[in-house]
Amino acid sequence: MDGAVTSDAISAVFAAQCVKAAERRLTFGYAERRAALEKLTEAVRRYEPEILAAFAADFGKPEAEVVFTEILPVTQEIRHTLKHLRRWMRPSRVSSSLPTFGTSAQVMAQPRGVCLIISPWNYPLNLCLGPLVSCLAAGNSAMLKPSEMTPAVSAVIARLIAETFPPDLVTVVEGGKDVSAVLLALPFDHIFFTGSPAVGRIVMEAAAKNLASVTLELGGKSPVIVGPDADIEQAAKWIAFGKFVNAGQTCIAPDYLFVHASMKERLLALLRERIAKAYGDGAQSPHLARIVNDHHARRLSGLLDDAKAKGARVVSGGEAEARAMAPTLIEAITPEMEIGREEIFGPILPIIAFDDIEQVITQINARPKPLSLYVFDRNNAFVERVLAATTSGGAGVNLTMLHFTHPDLPFGGVNNSGIGMAHGLYGFLAFSHQRAVLRNRFSLVPLVFPPYEGRAKRLIDLAKRFLG
Ligand code: NAD
Repeated sequence: MDGAVTSDAISAVFAAQCVKAAERRLTFGYAERRAALEKLTEAVRRYEPEILAAFAADFGKPEAEVVFTEILPVTQEIRHTLKHLRRWMRPSRVSSSLPTFGTSAQVMAQPRGVCLIISPWNYPLNLCLGPLVSCLAAGNSAMLKPSEMTPAVSAVIARLIAETFPPDLVTVVEGGKDVSAVLLALPFDHIFFTGSPAVGRIVMEAAAKNLASVTLELGGKSPVIVGPDADIEQAAKWIAFGKFVNAGQTCIAPDYLFVHASMKERLLALLRERIAKAYGDGAQSPHLARIVNDHHARRLSGLLDDAKAKGARVVSGGEAEARAMAPTLIEAITPEMEIGREEIFGPILPIIAFDDIEQVITQINARPKPLSLYVFDRNNAFVERVLAATTSGGAGVNLTMLHFTHPDLPFGGVNNSGIGMAHGLYGFLAFSHQRAVLRNRFSLVPLVFPPYEGRAKRLIDLAKRFLG
């Protein structure tokens, strides 16, 4: 097992969190949760210089991008949660049905208990601390396992958390899949995993052994469709942003693009223009993040080489030097190419022209359900047809990516792209157990208790007549 963390140390922290779990139901109320979240905001602000430096060290992510895709989403999640937490925590009343006449019903959100949060490298701060916000808001403790692929950011998260929370409330365990495996063997009450569908399966299998509930935030190939009546200039702007922010290493990045044949040349020209304006220096642009490591840089170059060897045409970009890869557009894609099969997760955008939207829908539906789907068109009927005939975790109409940031929208996938939802109320619910509480006031049900004769029998017959 890597580093200094031993499985005994992990088990000891887990045991300490478990010991406190019952007590926390009584002592970790609204005021304490609020205080914890406010401390987290302060810590993130205080650590901003270290966070920026860590991102620069791990994958050369531009400072502005770190602020608006890593730091702000976390502080905004906290702000939104603080605004609504009291209401979310309040038990909700449910009206009585005829058989439960004489009772009062409530749904109480209770903490699940001790939670495990495993996060990926691509938005290593946002996707580690974001779920922690919901976890604490719902009254749980957490063990966090950030990604080993962004070691500088993981180390900052570990320091920030250790300085802010006692280990029996929140602890960071650094390390790779060996450490993950040790954690996954423990009987957590809930596991919140963000990462690839392949590892999602391993997590769900491990969770099954302890019947832990899971939230799986996974990935896949998210399609974009540009229809015949799209505002093509807007489409090019949003697509270039969504595809090349974080150098395409984004779970909801447009993975591949269908464009109506009548619009293709214009879209390609506009995309090239946008790329030149945003990332004038290509691969070396200071506005473009680097590929996270050599393995992924080689994987991306391999995808491009395979596509070129099988007849794809590079429209723009294609240059790669070590971990710097230029924003790249390719066309003439065929099903034999690897790039059409695996999640690209880098700054390469395959472009496919279409004439008939029904064929596009068939192709999308033939694949695993994506995390996001984007459609650009001014014609409502076209957009509604695409939305109704396909499914995906979330969808964007005439935009990309922005649905992630809406505080009142659930964020998550379907099947291969995920199970369960995150953000705002949905994140709070993911980390809560919805406990049904029914209180007896003057229930009439004892009138039908056995023996089933006389009045009891007559009442059951009557109930069958009127309720059956
Ligand atoms: P990954 O699945 O390789 O790793 C994620 C986490 O799991 C890391 O902390 C890693 O240490 C751990 N891990 C890796 N192998 C493991 C194993 N065999 N057993 C147990 N734990 C293991 O994912 P990644 O490469 O870090 O991230 C990229 C993937 O994550 C992409 O598929 C992307 O689409 C997806 N993603 C999804 C979301 C979302 O919100 N749905 C967000 C970001 C990334």
